[in-house]
Amino acid sequence: MSHDHSHHTHGCCQHNPNFDGMSDDYKRRLWLVIAINALMFVVELAAGTIAGSQALMADALDFLADTLTYGLSLYVIGMAIHIRSAAALAKGISLTLMALWVFGSTIYQVFVLHVPSAPVMAGVGIAALVANALSVLLLVQYKDGDANVRSVWLCSRNDMIGNVIVVMAAAGVWGTGTAWPDLIVAGIMAGLFLSSSVRIITQALAERRTLP
Ligand SMILES: [Zn+2]
Repeated sequence: MSHDHSHHTHGCCQHNPNFDGMSDDYKRRLWLVIAINALMFVVELAAGTIAGSQALMADALDFLADTLTYGLSLYVIGMAIHIRSAAALAKGISLTLMALWVFGSTIYQVFVLHVPSAPVMAGVGIAALVANALSVLLLVQYKDGDANVRSVWLCSRNDMIGNVIVVMAAAGVWGTGTAWPDLIVAGIMAGLFLSSSVRIITQALAERRTLP
């Protein structure tokens, strides 16, 4: 299966890799990357809630998407096509609900304007940066493999840009003493994520229509 690199399913990543012919070493590394992404989803969501930072919550969405995408891709290898397409649909729906929640709570915060904790934002943003850097290092020796492997590697690398933006938002919150840098960054990130997760649903539904 070839990949259209101009068609991204969210801000940065290809979210429908189709792995085949993987070595055990690559699989082990990929499971490690999945575990790192799952852990960072929980950490960023919890920290975002405690620190009152919408940008951390919006950044957490990407860790969830990557966890589900890579996890499902490995888990459904060799399964029947209708199971794989049902999994893709379930993924699209759960990501859309999650994105709606983060987007909605960001809009709500515009009226509350509770100032988030800049140190927590910066600390967790840097932890997310380290987590993605670790994923990049784990996969670097495979980056010139097939297009799917390359897209996973590129995804973690590009996600580091989002992490840097969160740290910049933390600096903005600290500098201005207002919630605005957090809310603007979160609104853009969650909005982009929402449109791409809706696209995952559309694609999954279109795929299901072509099933026998
Ligand atoms: Zn990603």
